[in-house]
Amino acid sequence: MITHAHGDHARPGSASYLCAAPCEPLLRRRFGAECTIESISYGHELTVGDVRISFHPAGHVLGSAQIRIASNDGVWVVAGDYKRAADPTCAPFEPVRCDVFVTESTFGLPIYRWDPTVTVIADLAEWWQANRDAGRTSVVFCYTIGKAQRLLAELMHVTDRPIYVHGMMLGMIDAYRQSGVTMLPVAPVIERTGRKQSHTFAGELVLAPLSARGTPWMRRLGEISDAFASGLMRVRGVRRQRGYDRGFVLSDHADWPALLHTVEETGATRVLATHGYAEPLARYLRERGFDSGVIRTAWEGEPTGD
Ligand SMILES: [Zn+2]
Ligand SMILES: [Zn+2]
Repeated sequence: MITHAHGDHARPGSASYLCAAPCEPLLRRRFGAECTIESISYGHELTVGDVRISFHPAGHVLGSAQIRIASNDGVWVVAGDYKRAADPTCAPFEPVRCDVFVTESTFGLPIYRWDPTVTVIADLAEWWQANRDAGRTSVVFCYTIGKAQRLLAELMHVTDRPIYVHGMMLGMIDAYRQSGVTMLPVAPVIERTGRKQSHTFAGELVLAPLSARGTPWMRRLGEISDAFASGLMRVRGVRRQRGYDRGFVLSDHADWPALLHTVEETGATRVLATHGYAEPLARYLRERGFDSGVIRTAWEGEPTGD
């Protein structure tokens, strides 16, 4: 059972997969057509052995789900990655009552608090305009599943210009469009290079995956200013250390207040934290009377889609 299509959750090597319906096309792109993938609609209940299973929206990326597992012993909810902020590219998080709640904790520290998305997008638009005035190309690095599409949808409020994207991003943007998500038109960066030399990307906004940073692909963009769109950018030291000109604090994960609020809303008495700052979150909840602990997973790297 897969909560969503990010690489730290959708792991290859299983005989078959079960996911929420809107996640299926993304998983197929990731795993290939020959992989056995089944999906069920949000809220639909499936009996597997002694338990009843259902998927509920997690508001993280398209098709992301919390997995509810109910048996005579009670109800568990495994949230996967989730956020509470509105996102035009996916169904909003739905609180699900449970006895045991397995929560992510990517940003499980009190320093992580998000500004309203509209503020972040306004900052980005202003930065883009300043770069245009200076004849520079604006490059925003972001994750290929979720963040890129969210930016393309949110930017519709401030522009109708097409956005240039790295070729690696086209597949997933296409998958989102086919699922009915409305976004700005995009063009691959490569197309423009075939034309007259007088064509440059100066003044344009380009979205690129982190893996493209510092590669020869960047050269065709001319003089650039670069930025990273991620919750990680909340911490100035991280931004400086990674050498981005700008950081836009736009996350697809719950911030600290949202984590605590969500735990309360589930009504769970036992809370298990995983993924990120699991120890600090579990400790905080323990001090507030929850039976809480940490679940370690095979994945110990930096989470994707943050
Ligand atoms: Zn994750
Ligand atoms: Zn994720």
